[in-house]
Amino acid sequence: MSTTAARERLRSAAWLAKAAPFFIVLDGAGGRTRVVGGLVRDTLLGIERTMTDIDMATELLPQEVMVRGERAGFAVHPTGIDHGTVTLVAGGVVAEVTTLRKDIETFGRHARVDFGTDWTADAARRDFTMNALYAGPDGELYDPVEGLGDCLARRVRFIGDADERIAEDRLRVYRYFRFCATHGEEQFDDTALEACSRAARSLHQLSAERIGAEMLKLLNAPRCTATLEKMAALAVLDEDVLPVAALPVLARLEAYPLEPAAVVRMAVMAVRGGSAGLLQKRWRLSNALRRGIESLSAGAELAGEKRFTALAYRFPEIKLEAVAVAGAVEDWPKPRMEAVQAELLGYDPGEFPLNGRDLLAAGVPKGEMLGQELRRLEHEWIESEFALSRQALLDRIRLP
Ligand code: ATP
Ligand code: MG
Repeated sequence: MSTTAARERLRSAAWLAKAAPFFIVLDGAGGRTRVVGGLVRDTLLGIERTMTDIDMATELLPQEVMVRGERAGFAVHPTGIDHGTVTLVAGGVVAEVTTLRKDIETFGRHARVDFGTDWTADAARRDFTMNALYAGPDGELYDPVEGLGDCLARRVRFIGDADERIAEDRLRVYRYFRFCATHGEEQFDDTALEACSRAARSLHQLSAERIGAEMLKLLNAPRCTATLEKMAALAVLDEDVLPVAALPVLARLEAYPLEPAAVVRMAVMAVRGGSAGLLQKRWRLSNALRRGIESLSAGAELAGEKRFTALAYRFPEIKLEAVAVAGAVEDWPKPRMEAVQAELLGYDPGEFPLNGRDLLAAGVPKGEMLGQELRRLEHEWIESEFALSRQALLDRIRLP
């Protein structure tokens, strides 16, 4: 991909119009405020983003950003004011505006944040060269650490010395692997890997939330098994989270047509020796995600037992993913896995033909027993592959 074409893409990015109000208010034309980070990087690479917010860097002091924002009638939130971040909202667009910093001085335990106007220093404090790319109001690229070449070559390269940068913030180990999976075509360089390996033993100090956020993004990449293999080999991920037995399963999953989401891969990790509870704890996952992992594991178990109709009834939304997990676990050839998916795709067992009222009318007493009896009949119905009619089910009601 040529740099000219990439620069042109940035100049014609649709999101520039959405960023315009912020640029105007924060003197983008004077070069005092720029968009930075993922949005610029992904636009240069031609990657579609569902834009949620715009990250901006500015020479203006946080107080000044707030005053200007208020004067313009924007919603202003001093979200991270201690480290210089103000959130502005205008026309439904959210901008996170962070003031450039000077090096942080440390007086004993007290760190002091000083603001500055040095864009090269701001770039140098970021993690990878592809993440230190800035755009002005007309989409003109500003590239103080020469990251464009790395970005277009999809080379995830630490800015400066990898060991030093990791020592400053160990999360960068996870971020390195995350970006290798999402933006680096799973290519690694030895210097970075060696630095990650040297840091592997000191990663436990990181918070579960920070690791979890990176792992979630990594596991949502279209391909990430080679990355996970590297992380396992360097002991960045422990065996209890990523069991060795899960790796070939994840590889087979990737060879299937369906692009696996993080929850699907986590289900594989859970099925092959981990657990949803452990993953949730280690990566502070939401309860919704944990339930998703558990449902997929249960669905995959049904698929593994070839109880496909039961799977379709109990887990209609995730039946195809559950089949893929089961297929990958049991090493089904791709055509077989796809055949099962195709069969299940249009399959709809319909609704269970009885409800509580039917049981009450038949004489089952209200209370716990009613629920139990209803579940028992539903189970029979599922086991019959939905062949039992309403009348046949009514005939099977057991009275106390
Ligand atoms: P995404 O597409 O996931 O939003 P992103 O590049 O915007 O990717 P964020 O985690 O949102 O990543 O961070 C925004 C920017 O902040 C990065 O591009 C990078 O420049 C900088 N950054 C974030 N975390 C770190 C870190 N731990 N160390 C150094 N720089 C960081
Ligand atoms: Mg971002």
